[in-house]
Amino acid sequence: MPAASALAMLRAASDGGYAVGAFNVTGLPQMQAVVEAAVQRRSPLIIQTSVSPSRSVGPGLFTAMYRCLAREAPVPICLHLDHCTDVGWCITCADAGYTNLMIDASREPLPENIRQTRAVCDYAHAAGDVTVEGELGTVAGAEDQAAVVGDAVRLCDPESAVEFVQASGVDLLAPAIGTAHGVYVTPDPEIDFDRLARIRTALAAHGLATPLVIHGGTGLPARTVRRLIELGGAKFNVSTELKHVLIDTTRRYVEEHPSEYDPGRIDRAVKEATTAAVMGWMDLLGCSGRA
Ligand SMILES: [Zn+2]
Repeated sequence: MPAASALAMLRAASDGGYAVGAFNVTGLPQMQAVVEAAVQRRSPLIIQTSVSPSRSVGPGLFTAMYRCLAREAPVPICLHLDHCTDVGWCITCADAGYTNLMIDASREPLPENIRQTRAVCDYAHAAGDVTVEGELGTVAGAEDQAAVVGDAVRLCDPESAVEFVQASGVDLLAPAIGTAHGVYVTPDPEIDFDRLARIRTALAAHGLATPLVIHGGTGLPARTVRRLIELGGAKFNVSTELKHVLIDTTRRYVEEHPSEYDPGRIDRAVKEATTAAVMGWMDLLGCSGRA
């Protein structure tokens, strides 16, 4: 299929009571694996790259791989830039063919967050069907090279969310509600479900149907994921889990085959494990069979 609009994909998810998984990849084997999962599950898909791999691989090469795989796939697939704190790099990636961008100015005061998010939205929306995600409040933990800990963690205020969406024109909102990047230190992390419900209600009261994005999907209990979807979570980001699958599978394969020197077999093992993990997420999110 040709490049898909994330906004349309996520509005359909919100209306249908399911969510779409957004899976971070660092290279081709992982990208092939998440696409394979979407094809097997007949699921819409958002592929994400963090900023570091987008800089090391290059946005042109990532978008070329994406376009080639997406064109052949019978399901809609987007390519999203995750947690970019640089307006200029967002624009570079939009020009290269990313279909969605996250401008993360969440550590700035609200007026500056609005200004930077507005700048990316103005460019992306003028450039065509490019969807923009913004963040309000700060999600705890480490993402790429950024770490948010202790007093720097701020949850999203519902009234500020309305102001942020209206003033910036952002398409997707990632509100900080207590989820975290990395590995949760507890098996049942404390999530502010009520806050998510109040954010959705406040937006709706102003006629805004902005799809909501849940960061820090890795390690959330299934019942927590289901509840977050009921309350409006339409896009779930899963990054840490796929890093662990890649590294753990590679380590195990090398340990079990100490005399083998065939990188293709390691890639195959990583792809199979990644596809299985992603299909599990698609079933949990309810997006299996929706494409
Ligand atoms: Zn995130």
